[in-house]
Amino acid sequence: MRLPERLKTGGKVYSFEFYPPKTAEDTAKLFNTALELKALSPDFVSVTNSSSGVTPYRTVALCGVLKAQFGLEIVAHLTCLAHTKQEISEICDGLKKMDITNILALRGDPHNVDAGARRSDYSHAAQLITDLKRAGGFSLGGACYPEKHPEAGTLEADIARLREKVDAGAEYLITQLFFDNAHYFRFLEKIAAAGINVPVLPGLMPLTGYKQMQNFTKMMQVGIPDELRRGIERWEGDKDGLFKFSVDYASRQALDLLKGGAPGLHLYTLNRSRAAMAILQNVKGA
Ligand code: FAD
Repeated sequence: MRLPERLKTGGKVYSFEFYPPKTAEDTAKLFNTALELKALSPDFVSVTNSSSGVTPYRTVALCGVLKAQFGLEIVAHLTCLAHTKQEISEICDGLKKMDITNILALRGDPHNVDAGARRSDYSHAAQLITDLKRAGGFSLGGACYPEKHPEAGTLEADIARLREKVDAGAEYLITQLFFDNAHYFRFLEKIAAAGINVPVLPGLMPLTGYKQMQNFTKMMQVGIPDELRRGIERWEGDKDGLFKFSVDYASRQALDLLKGGAPGLHLYTLNRSRAAMAILQNVKGA
């Protein structure tokens, strides 16, 4: 499957994001998650690329297993900070051998890559996209930020950089998570005005607690609507109540996005299936 072609068919696209586990126990848990989520027939799963110390090839290895053993369609994340040009070229050869043709090309999060392992052949995702496009054979996507990337001075400046990624060859975009759909719809208008017309898959994740809410606000600089903040505070300490509230909130968000024309949903799973399954079941059942 080539994701840009799939997006052109007009049917809603549903996907899940996983990260490479570090221990045998977590790997077993992820495989259970993958099996459970496969039952919902996702269009693809994506695998993040963090390279925090073990081996830069964990992402590729996991992509291969999820495709070959689980029969899942794959989008492999590749980051500038985790790889040299040479490594990127080797990884691309490996992905091609496994018939994986979709790559989400990113700069990477500095805190995800050990300082000693950080690479400097590319400083921005657009450069990686340019190289991958030149190498040929892959369908490429990029990340975008409806509330702007934390390092960008303004949303307009960030969108100008986003345009460079699309001009370099990104055929679709996946958003940073957000909790207020108004940001997504306003962002679509702004990027269209800037000449960006590729599909934008919204990234969604239910909040799992007060601490996570604080982290997201600080690290990703995403806004938390009052209703969500009050609900998280209300249910903090009650695991089941919090789960139900968070899943309900994310399900309503998902339905509103789809109704408003979003091409699908990309669910950040943190390698767990329960919330992602509940949200997708709510959406498909509605
Ligand atoms: P870029 O597009 O390079 O932009 C980064 C910043 O630089 C922005 O502020 C932009 O405005 C600015 N900029 C861009 N080009 C230039 C230029 N030429 N000159 C000056 N400034 C410029 N992180 C991981 O480590 N691994 C993952 O697998 C991963 N997956 C992700 C998936 C999604 C859907 C999203 C939304 C994010 C993901 N991230 C991941 C996090 C991401 O890598 C970080 O947010 C990172 O800080 C920015 O990555 P980017 O690809 O958007 O960077």
